[in-house]
Amino acid sequence: MNSHHHPSSQILLQYSAGQLDGVHRLMVEMHQQMCPTCQHVVAELESMGGTILENDIKPTALTDSAFSQLMNHIDQQDDQLQSTPANNIDSNDSQQLSLKLQELYKTQQSDDLNWQWRTKKFAEIKLSANDDIYEAKLIYIKKGMKVPRHTHKGQEITLVMKGAFRDELGVYEKGDYITRDGHHEHQPIAESDCICLAITTDELKFTGTFGPVLNWFMK
Ligand SMILES: [Zn+2]
Repeated sequence: MNSHHHPSSQILLQYSAGQLDGVHRLMVEMHQQMCPTCQHVVAELESMGGTILENDIKPTALTDSAFSQLMNHIDQQDDQLQSTPANNIDSNDSQQLSLKLQELYKTQQSDDLNWQWRTKKFAEIKLSANDDIYEAKLIYIKKGMKVPRHTHKGQEITLVMKGAFRDELGVYEKGDYITRDGHHEHQPIAESDCICLAITTDELKFTGTFGPVLNWFMK
């Protein structure tokens, strides 16, 4: 199955140059597993050795990321002393989190995870993404569930891990990578039991009839 929704060329460029970290990097990686087109583009970019990058993209603050890597490393050593339940996907250890997400993507087994059920058809798990820019969540929407209409204050990037959902702009299946921001208002509906990995820079803003109530409720 080929994906129909891809990361932008800018994101693929950043990925190839090793400028994406954490959950976002993993999302591009998992997208590629389903997408020969992006695999090909990334291979081309990597073979260019990132030479075009120096002029095009401002390097990210390397010192900051080196610092947070060091802190992560120290955190990990602390975490090893605490035992984590097997079904707890929300690991503080970014490597372990990444392995668990990849396992979910591969096996499609999700029932034993530590879902926080918000309604009968909607659950989520907040992930410790250790990321300065994005908040990360796993979202479970059961077949037929309509997510209240909303737009985005910041950017929202979604990777479909399992099942499918649709909105006014299309149908999204496993491996699809979807970018939305304040220009898009949509109401996602689950076509089948659907799990998405989503990263956001800011809160959603609900716009439907119950918008004001939901905006207050989600704070
Ligand atoms: Zn692609």
